[in-house]
Amino acid sequence: MKRRAERALESIDTRPYWQWICIDDAETCALCRKRHQRVFHYTDKIWERLPPIHAGCRCRFRALTSDGMAAQGLSLSSGADFLTADGKPK
Ligand SMILES: [Zn+2]
Repeated sequence: MKRRAERALESIDTRPYWQWICIDDAETCALCRKRHQRVFHYTDKIWERLPPIHAGCRCRFRALTSDGMAAQGLSLSSGADFLTADGKPK
C-alpha cells in the first residue's frame, strides 16, 4: 500500500480526492463496509491509517479528480464521522 500511496501523492494536484474501496461481500467487516465508496480529501485524518486497517482487510483506495467525483455523483465525506477522538475506526 505504501507504493500506492506514494503514487497517489504524486498526483494530488489533479486527483486530491481518495475513495475508499472495499471488497463488499459476506466477509467484509462493518467498519470497512461503512467506508466503502466514500470519498475523503487526501489530507483527511482518515488516511493517517491507509488500508489495510486490520488483519484480513482487503480495502484499498483510488484517487479521483473533482470531475470524476462529479461524474459519479460522489460527494466528500469527513473522516471525523468514521473515527473516534483518538483516531480509531468507528
Ligand atoms: Zn477493510
